[in-house]
Amino acid sequence: MAGTVMPSPIRVEENETENIARIKEIKAERGDSLIILAHHYQRLGVHQCGDVVGDSYHLCKAAAHTEKARDIVFCGVRFMVTSAAVLCRDDQVVYHPDRNAGCPMADMANLPQVRTSWKELGEVTETAKVIPVVYMNSDLDLKAFCGEHGGIVCTSSNAAKVFDWVFERGEKIFFFPDEHLGRNTANKYGFKGEDIVLWDPKQPFGGLTEAQIQRAKVILWKGYCHVHTRFTPEMIAKARTEHEGIKVIVHPECTEDTVAAADFSGSTGFIQDYVRKMQPGDKLAIGTEVNMIHRLSVENPDKLIIPLVRSLCPNMFKISTGDLRECLENLDTWEPVKADPAEKQFAKLALDNMLACAG
Ligand code: SF4
Repeated sequence: MAGTVMPSPIRVEENETENIARIKEIKAERGDSLIILAHHYQRLGVHQCGDVVGDSYHLCKAAAHTEKARDIVFCGVRFMVTSAAVLCRDDQVVYHPDRNAGCPMADMANLPQVRTSWKELGEVTETAKVIPVVYMNSDLDLKAFCGEHGGIVCTSSNAAKVFDWVFERGEKIFFFPDEHLGRNTANKYGFKGEDIVLWDPKQPFGGLTEAQIQRAKVILWKGYCHVHTRFTPEMIAKARTEHEGIKVIVHPECTEDTVAAADFSGSTGFIQDYVRKMQPGDKLAIGTEVNMIHRLSVENPDKLIIPLVRSLCPNMFKISTGDLRECLENLDTWEPVKADPAEKQFAKLALDNMLACAG
C-alpha cells in the first residue's frame, strides 16, 4: 500500500489556490520586512505560505532571531504568538491571523490556581528547592510566574534537557499544565513509582499527602491535550496487524501506555526528521495532529504514512488561507499582539532559559 497518499482530513478550503497566490504576491511586495511563521499543525495551504515552519520551540527561536523582518505573522495558537511577542525586538510587531485560536490544555492551569498550589507546596516542602517548569502550551502569566521563581519554559523538543537544567539547580520539578509530557519525560529520565505524583489543582494540596509531596521528585499538574490523549495502545496494535512491518511514532503528549506501546515518541520536529530519513516503501503510523500527518503523506507519496486515528486540533484549524490573506491585506490596521509589560520581563526570563537550553 506504500505509495498511497492519505486523503485530505478535511474539505479543502474554498478559494485556497487564489488565496495562496495573493499571499505570495503580498510576500513578494513586502520582501524581507515580513516573515510568516507556521506551526506543523496548520492546514496544508497555510503551511505552504510559511517562511519558517516548525514546532513551537523552533518558531519561537525564529521570532527571537529574525533580523530583517519588522512584521512577524504567526500562524499557530495563542500561547505561541504571545511568546513570540515577548521574544522579538521592540521594533518588531507580531500579528495573529485569528486571535480566537487558543488551546484547551493551556486553559487547564491559570495563575490563581498555580499561586495557590505554590503556596500549599511551600507549607509542606522548601520551595527554594522546587523549580517550576511550564510547558510552552500555557498563558503568558504562567511563564512569568516561572521566570519570577527561577523556572523555565519547556517544549516537547527540549523536555529532556529541561530536566537536566532543573536538577542542576534544584531537587524537585513542579511541572504544568501537561501531565503526560511531564510523565513521559520523567519516565525517560529514570524516575519511577513514588518519584512522580499527580497534582490535582481542584483539591487542597493537589489531593496529595505531605509525605507524598516530600518524597516526590516530579510533581505533575493534572492537565492534558484532548487531541493526543485519543491515541491508545489498541490503535497501535491494530496498525501493526493491518500493515506488516509498520513503525509507530507518537507525540509525548500521549498517555504513557501509548508511548510505551509505540516504537518511538518525540516532538513534531522529531517526527518530521524521522520521516525525512524513511526509505521508499517504508511504513509509518503516527499519533499526532492529523493535518501534520496529511502533509507528510502528501510530501512523501513513495511511503505509507497514516494516522493512528484522525485527531484534529480545532484551534490550530481555525486559521485558514482566507484568514491569513485578510491579515496580510490589512496588516497596517491589524491589531498587533502585545505582551503585558508586567508579565513580559519575567516571562522573557523563563523563555530565555528555554532558548539557552538547546533543543
Ligand atoms: S494540539 Fe493539543 S496542546 Fe496543541 S494546541 Fe491543540 S489542544 Fe492545544
